[in-house]
Parts: sequence; structure tokens; C-alpha cells
Amino acid sequence: MALIVQKFGGSSVANAEKIQNVCRIISRTYDAGNDVVVVLSAQGDTTDDLIEKAQEINPAASKREMDVLLSTGEQISIALAAMCLEKMGYPAVSLTGWQVGMQTSSDYSAARIRKVEGSRIRKELDKRRIVLVAGFQGINRYGDITTLGRGGSDTTAVALAVALKADLCQIYTDVDGVYTADPRIVPNARKLDEITYDEMLELASLGAQVLHNRSVELAKHYGVELEVLSSFSGNPGTIVKEVVKMEKTYISGVAQDKKIARIAVVGLENVPGVAYKLFSLLAKNKVNVDIILQSIGRGDTKDISFTVNEKDEELCMQVLQENQEALRFHEIYASNDVAKISIVGSGMVNNAGVAASMFEALYKSRINIHMISTSEIKISVLIDKGDSEKAMRAIHDQFFD
Ligand code: ASP
Ligand code: MG
Repeated sequence: MALIVQKFGGSSVANAEKIQNVCRIISRTYDAGNDVVVVLSAQGDTTDDLIEKAQEINPAASKREMDVLLSTGEQISIALAAMCLEKMGYPAVSLTGWQVGMQTSSDYSAARIRKVEGSRIRKELDKRRIVLVAGFQGINRYGDITTLGRGGSDTTAVALAVALKADLCQIYTDVDGVYTADPRIVPNARKLDEITYDEMLELASLGAQVLHNRSVELAKHYGVELEVLSSFSGNPGTIVKEVVKMEKTYISGVAQDKKIARIAVVGLENVPGVAYKLFSLLAKNKVNVDIILQSIGRGDTKDISFTVNEKDEELCMQVLQENQEALRFHEIYASNDVAKISIVGSGMVNNAGVAASMFEALYKSRINIHMISTSEIKISVLIDKGDSEKAMRAIHDQFFD
């Protein structure tokens, strides 16, 4: 007998029929003799709808009250699922974040889990009950309701798996697992059997929205294996773990990020300390910088260009303009007509030619590269936004066909 944590996302519990489907999966797991702890998200678009309701009343509502409101979505799901299991003849109990002792920091709308006091859940499991826990929510030291940030139910599930020393943590969603690329853009993308935590973290931050980033960090830290799978298809999913068997492609996925902007600072002095001044100023203003490129100095001057998240573009330009005198540059330009394409794979560390192969695919498609950045498990290029989908397909074909 094992202890299994199963998390079901919003699309998996969107209506009565889907809740029944989820409860069949839960009951089968229970019938096999396992202890089952279930974490549920809010149904379908419930969280978005609740945000809209708040907007109608007070667009500047306090984060504390927003959390009281948003946490209700998950509470609906657990109660309905418990009722469904009751009807099917199974002993089930629904519990809120507060009832299971999900203790968090006090940052409303972005709380971090501090500790899970698991005794209530254990008591219920000892009575052979199926325990349904509201995802995404916790309680802070003032006894107030908090939420973990959008998509946070994944993190609830992993935190419970850690606290209860679960044997398995399954994240059920509406796709079969993690793919080599977004199948809507690359039709021949395929499902991965396995992926490492680090690759998953890179892909998540690159916009492959399968798992909440912090859930993967937490799983990596405590060595909890995750299985991402579909609640509809019954197919085996993707296992997320520390080490995976190496495929001959050496890479696990191709991802794009179109929500970026490139800033070019032209005519900086060619002396020590310039990059330090520029980037510490941006850091002080909480502008996150990604790829950085510095030109070779031409006599007295040099240029530095870098990318930022699209939402930081305005702030970044404003900060630079205000500090033109101190930074001593000639001109600045911004463009958001760019996209970042990345390949991710833990196998590229020890294999030459992966970068060349990526660049070859772009060359054959006549796509120009503006910037390049590499890490141990990732190579990113900046290209024109209009070329993004074409680049994705070309690079994917290069490695996976
Ligand atoms: N219901 C929350 C959201 O929509 C949390 C979650 O689904 O994980 O973001
Ligand atoms: Mg999600």
C-alpha cells in the first residue's frame, strides 16, 4: 500500500461530468489499497471570474480581501468532489488549507509555504478516508487566508507529498504530459517519457506552462518524483525527476518567448565600470535583465544591448533616460519586435555541436540571429518576432526528425 497525492487542475474539474471522471480515477487508486490525498484547483475559469467580480466592485481591492475571495474557488471543487465520492459510496472528507495546517508567509497573493502541519490529514487517512484538500491556499501567522500565486495548486500538491512522505505525486491536467514543443505550433511535437527537474524549470520559465515553477523547485529540493498526465486520455504521462536516460538528441525541448523587448544602449564610454553602473541601476529599479551583448569597443565608445520582459520595457527606458547624464551614453533604442527561441537539454553539456546544429537549422530557414546566450543546459537566440514559429519548427525538425 502506498500514499499517493493526486492533483487535478481546473480543466479536469470544470463541470459535474468532469468531477465524476476525476472521482473515478481517485476511487480506482483507493480501491487498489492506497491512501489517497487529492488536491483540487478551482473549476475551469472560476479564478478569473472571481477576479472580474472584484474588479466590478473595487479595482484596487486589498490583496488580503482578494485572497479571501480567490480561495473560495478551490473550496467549491473539494466540496463537490467529496459529495461525488460520497454518492459513489466512498468515505471522503474535504479540508481547506487552514484545516490541514498549510502555513505560509504573509504575502497575500504570492505566499510561500513555510510548513505543513499534516496531523489532521494523517488522522483522516488512518480512518481510511479519501482526503480532498483545497489547492492554492494557506494561512499566515495572523490566521488570515493567503494564496500561493496563480497556478499555485501544483505547489500545494508537492508540499503535501513532501510533508506526508508520499510515494508518488501525480499532477493531472488536460494534456498527456510535457512535450518537446508546443503542439499547437509544432504539430509533430512528441510527449517526453521523462524530463529532469532542471530542464522542466527552464522550460517553465520559457513559457511552457505545464507546472507551477515553485512546485518543480520544491520537488527537486526534496527529491519528489512528479508524474504529469492527462485526466482524460488514460495514457502514461511524463515523469519529472533528477536524472533521466539520455536520448540521442541530447535536448528535451524547444520553447519560445515573445513577451520580451530588446534595449540597445549606444555610445557608452569604453572604460571600466560602465556595465556595472548600467546594470546595478536597473537592478535597483527591479528590472530583470536576460540576454546581454556588448560590442567590441570602437576607440572611445562601445554599445551594450540586452533583453528584458516586455512588461519592464517602459520602466527600463524611463530609468535609462533619467540617468543619461550619469551613464554617459549617446542614444537608446527599444524594440519588442523580437522573440527568444531556446533549446533545453541536460545532454548538451557533454556534447559538441548542439549549438552549431541549432544555428544550422536557422541558417537553412534564412533566419537571422541577433543575440545568443548559453548555459549548461540551454541555448537561446534572439530573432525577429515574425520568424518565431518558423524557427520553432525548423529547430524541432533538426533535432527530433
Ligand atoms: N485556481 C488558481 C488559479 O487559477 C490556482 C490553480 O489553479 O493552481 O491560478
Ligand atoms: Mg496549472
